[in-house]
Amino acid sequence: MRNDWKMSKPPATMRAMVFEQVGAPLRPVELPVPSPAPNELLLRVEACGVCRTDLHLLDGEVAIAQPPRVLGHQVVARNVADGRRVGVPWLGWTDGDCSQCRAGRENLCEHARFTGCDIDGGFAEYTVADERFCFELASDEPPEQIAPLLCAGLIGYRSLRMCGDAQRIGFYGFGASAHILAQLVAWQGREVYAFTRSGDEPAQALARELGAAWAGSSDEAPPQALDAAIIFAAVGPLVPVALRALRPGGTVVCAGIHMSDIPAFPYEILWGERTIRSVANLTRADGIEFLELAAQAGVRSHVTTYVLEDANQALGDLRAGAFRGAAVLVI
Ligand SMILES: [Zn+2]
Ligand SMILES: [Zn+2]
Repeated sequence: MRNDWKMSKPPATMRAMVFEQVGAPLRPVELPVPSPAPNELLLRVEACGVCRTDLHLLDGEVAIAQPPRVLGHQVVARNVADGRRVGVPWLGWTDGDCSQCRAGRENLCEHARFTGCDIDGGFAEYTVADERFCFELASDEPPEQIAPLLCAGLIGYRSLRMCGDAQRIGFYGFGASAHILAQLVAWQGREVYAFTRSGDEPAQALARELGAAWAGSSDEAPPQALDAAIIFAAVGPLVPVALRALRPGGTVVCAGIHMSDIPAFPYEILWGERTIRSVANLTRADGIEFLELAAQAGVRSHVTTYVLEDANQALGDLRAGAFRGAAVLVI
């Protein structure tokens, strides 16, 4: 395997799906294969996960400063030089010396660059990535199994960490991220309460299959007060809904990069030392810790795969909630 990869000399050009402007579909183009700078690896992409953040980029809710841009920030790839498999996550580069980086919060780096947003990502046959921000990956798993771990799993894990030692954890929205985290939480002996859009039976059934203690619609109250809740859906009105489901001292964690406006709510549902917080990006330490735990817990991704040229279809299906689990481009 390794030798095969080493022998395959990259061609001059590659296929890629490119973001050009807000509101327009990604465009299939032929681009030059990029050249790695010092510190960078030239990577042959095997698979790349599709994330809700990609929808926010398409819709302009999260801005791409310098289009055109190759999207995709859950990249499973082989290093062309030696066949090693690596994962490229959302956090693509930090300066390492701003006050946030120095305080161990590289996820909040003032000059961070993000894969598939500020740097070209994995919706392409090849990409380059700063080796310092790549994760070592197991070589024997199908690439589409690993891809959803790299953002859905990883940023979900950071959100879970913010729940502390909560035993009863509500998940609002049961898609790519929640279906991975539910397995980890169940493995840890804690309870998941899965809330979906009203009538989303397939997602509720998946939650139960993956060990959730309870699954229902987000307009239902849980059978017991929650110690914490993670809101995966980009839906601001879920914040007061989740607050009402919490015991005193509990935390609501907003896991997404964008959310619709949070409506006003009475102070009494926050009172009792309840907390609302967001989670932004990831640190490399989060990634290393999560990938190890996911392997120990035997986490499996439920994946719908698409070929590269069907990236727009995958994004449309994600928007429509047309599949359970995660979407991955296999390249
Ligand atoms: Zn993502
Ligand atoms: Zn920094």
